[in-house]
Amino acid sequence: MVKRNVLLNPGPATTTDTVKMAQVVPDICPREKEFVAVMREVEDGLLRIVHADPEEYAAVLFCGSGTINMDICLNSLLPADKKILIINNGAYSSRAAEICEYYGLPYLNLKQPLDRQPDLTVVEQTLKENPDIALVYTTHNETGTGLLNPIREIGALAHRYHGVFVVDTTSTYAMRPIDIAADEVDFCMASAQKGIMAMTGLSFIIGRKSVIEASAAYPKRSYYCNLYMQYEYARAHGEMHFTPPVQVIYSVRQALKEYFEEGEERKWARHCRVYRAIRNGLISLGFRIYIPEGQESGLVAAALYPADPRWDFEKIHDYCYERGFTIYPGKVEKLGMFRLCALGAIDEKDIEAFFAVFREALHACGVSVPVRYEQ
Ligand SMILES: *Cc1c(COP(=O)(O)O)cnc(C)c1O
Repeated sequence: MVKRNVLLNPGPATTTDTVKMAQVVPDICPREKEFVAVMREVEDGLLRIVHADPEEYAAVLFCGSGTINMDICLNSLLPADKKILIINNGAYSSRAAEICEYYGLPYLNLKQPLDRQPDLTVVEQTLKENPDIALVYTTHNETGTGLLNPIREIGALAHRYHGVFVVDTTSTYAMRPIDIAADEVDFCMASAQKGIMAMTGLSFIIGRKSVIEASAAYPKRSYYCNLYMQYEYARAHGEMHFTPPVQVIYSVRQALKEYFEEGEERKWARHCRVYRAIRNGLISLGFRIYIPEGQESGLVAAALYPADPRWDFEKIHDYCYERGFTIYPGKVEKLGMFRLCALGAIDEKDIEAFFAVFREALHACGVSVPVRYEQ
């Protein structure tokens, strides 16, 4: 038995014991046929989660954390003399802009307010005025705040203006249902430690084969992080080009099995239940949630720090951590916030147990409940 911790941080998530134990396998060289078959099974499962037709889309696997996917899509999918449009209303799209800076890629950083969905008329105007935009990029769930972006609408605009649409779905994939074609997505991405509830170390991009194949002729800007190279190698050999995270891939295979046993609908219903419990728990203590109702991803609640001199995030974190619950700070500059996330193998009763501990933590710090704000 492994001690069970309830992780309310935005990934890695709480995993089942069966997923943890799936990593304990006889040593194997990943070039063996037996392992190649495991890889194939994993790729098939990853495609199925977003209802991707394997004729049209491929799942390309990489060893790394989720940011590697962002890096790879941005540096690999931009043709020469074209530019990227980033629809930016949060920390993760800002990270994409930073990646463009590091590679010296031409990009437009379309900054939008952080607490609401983007103005689509501005997005359309920008596309109209810049016919050299080849890649439109945004984040599905801005994990820093819990803001949900309307990907289907943005994707339709991208396509109307002949752009390829790339979405960072790291914090929605395998949680909020996605239908890659109906949602107008050309490329999406995630990591094993988030929605599928496996271990850290494997990341994957699911994208249109025709675009990946066309990208063979685009400027090459990275060696290790090139999408076409990895895709082509996997197509020819059934393996990752360089050493894969072997044991993590076994945990992913088990996690996918559990995903399909639970089912897309039931899993999403569970995340919604957990999110409701988080939201209601926070509101009943008087906390204010940063993202207005109806614009939330339903997976991350960012609560503003109360105006109480005794509020001390670190102390409250430590109190909860010692009792098996992990809470996480916010990610908006100059605004004190903390986050509670609905990822992972948890359910409503875990949230009830958490709030009992959280209430005690507030009490132990002398924070008055309901919490108060200046105005
Ligand atoms: C977690 C996450 C990532 C990846 O972060 P890593 O720390 O590199 O794993 C990327 N985008 C979003 C939206 C995320 O939530």
